[in-house]
Amino acid sequence: MNCHYLPVRLPGANIVCEKKNKDIKKMGFLYETHLHTCEASACGKVHGEDYIDYMINKGYSGFVVTDHFFNGNTCVPEDMPWADRVEMYASGYERALKAAEGRDINVMFGVEFNFWKDEYLIYGIDKKWLLDNECIMEMTRHELHDAVRKAGGVMIQAHPFRERDYLSDIRLAPSACDGVEVYNAANKPNMNALGFEYTTELGMPMTAGSDIHYFYDGDMGGMLFDTKITDVKDLARGLIDGRGIPVRLGQNGVITPVSEIKEQTVSTELPTLPVIYPEGK
Ligand SMILES: [Zn+2]
Ligand SMILES: [Zn+2]
Repeated sequence: MNCHYLPVRLPGANIVCEKKNKDIKKMGFLYETHLHTCEASACGKVHGEDYIDYMINKGYSGFVVTDHFFNGNTCVPEDMPWADRVEMYASGYERALKAAEGRDINVMFGVEFNFWKDEYLIYGIDKKWLLDNECIMEMTRHELHDAVRKAGGVMIQAHPFRERDYLSDIRLAPSACDGVEVYNAANKPNMNALGFEYTTELGMPMTAGSDIHYFYDGDMGGMLFDTKITDVKDLARGLIDGRGIPVRLGQNGVITPVSEIKEQTVSTELPTLPVIYPEGK
């Protein structure tokens, strides 16, 4: 995509205008890669179906529901059969998908998978794959990565340099993923900048997302494509073949490539937590 498309103005959250939306979609198609529902994420505050109007009004052409899996901040009880747990896990996505019927927005299925507080966004697998693969709970990062690749999906390390009270170190596994989420709208700029520098050095694909758990007026993230994404496998390929560009959707409605935002790409401080490579460099 050429940069003369940018910056693109999107309608404000409270302006509903189908014609305007169509004009924007001629310039590019914006996809949210990181979104949580309250059906499966303990920290999620929004039902799957309630995201449809919200995301259309923000100007998104689609989004991936990436609820925390059972090893993360899940609200799915442990004491149920695997199949029931997976059904409950997928219900946030399915509610959103149903509400999107007849609307101009593409709702896709994803997973946010936790190891030792390092988390990975998985795109390109579906509910059936989870039903058939209870063994993923016992897998190492590399084993899961191989299994996801075999299924035609990709694994992206989420917010690698995040620092929070619940984290005691930064775990990086560049050899067990296909790319890195360099812009996470819920991260402080320096944490994103460290991730951007790290990923640049590795030469790996970069993604951007909001990590949205509830409605808010702040900056968001996403991937901008110059053609429509057909399904989650198409998105998975598009994330690693360089078709999409990581962008910030500013609260003023302006889309900016992450690579052009200095505070999100040039670090000013080192990490304060120790950096560990559990799978080697
Ligand atoms: Zn969460
Ligand atoms: Zn998340």
